[in-house]
Amino acid sequence: MNFPGIVSPYNEDLLRGLSGHSVAVRVQDPADAAAAAACARQSGSRLVCVLIESDSPLSEIELPEDSRGIPLALAVPSAGRFRSFAGRLKHLRQFNLRVYLSCSRPENILSLRILSSVGIHGCAVIERGVKHWEEIADLMTYAMLERAHHASIEPFTFIADNYDPFSHIDWAFFYFDDPKSFLHLDIEGRVALSREDLAKERFVARNLCEIADPDQFPPIQEWLRRRREYFVGLHPCASCAGWKLCLGKYETSRGPECSAFFIEMIEVARRFKALRARNGEAQIWQP
Ligand code: SF4
Repeated sequence: MNFPGIVSPYNEDLLRGLSGHSVAVRVQDPADAAAAAACARQSGSRLVCVLIESDSPLSEIELPEDSRGIPLALAVPSAGRFRSFAGRLKHLRQFNLRVYLSCSRPENILSLRILSSVGIHGCAVIERGVKHWEEIADLMTYAMLERAHHASIEPFTFIADNYDPFSHIDWAFFYFDDPKSFLHLDIEGRVALSREDLAKERFVARNLCEIADPDQFPPIQEWLRRRREYFVGLHPCASCAGWKLCLGKYETSRGPECSAFFIEMIEVARRFKALRARNGEAQIWQP
């Protein structure tokens, strides 16, 4: 396993200690994005993105000019009124931007589709316990099969592009929520395995120095062992036909809805691949 990327608050001292790591820097205010990116790069990190976690709807957010070209993950509670930012679409499209919206609010599912149709890339955040699987399935089908030009909606675009009937796909890195891909730091440099653990102050190390080798680090080993246990312990998810695209992510709230959704996604991804092959858009292999 490569060393996971680090999601870190914007703090010069912390970032200085992350030289050589891949880093996503967390800020609350879009005005800090450029300075946070510069700080990460100057400290010798590879910048994955600046993660802006704002309480304001997209319609009220002004992205500063100096953050153009910086990879931005903008997490907002809602898009707000479309007519409030319709006049700024051209401006927004000039940023290296992906807008994160929670699918726990049904209006956000529609907003992701509208944003995609006007060229703004999005990410559908499907939390555990989500209720609106039918609406999310519509969004997923739009993202994968709509032929009219539109921006990506992750994780669906990634899954469609990478679907392989013979293997599983893990897309948790889009949510920064997979300790193989990302670890999370608090302002004191303490390490958590997930965003949820960070919010609940469940730390696995006092600092990154305690994790010399992530493969041998017991909390990460334990996390991987729990995933393998799905099969050893004959967990219901192990026999779910949607497993290879879900990997048990909704296990704590599982039911027929999540299973039906992921089974449908397999079928839609298969149709996407067939369409692509029919149109001569076959992909060239990648290393
Ligand atoms: S779709 Fe639901 S039942 Fe199937 S693997 Fe995921 S959480 Fe488990």
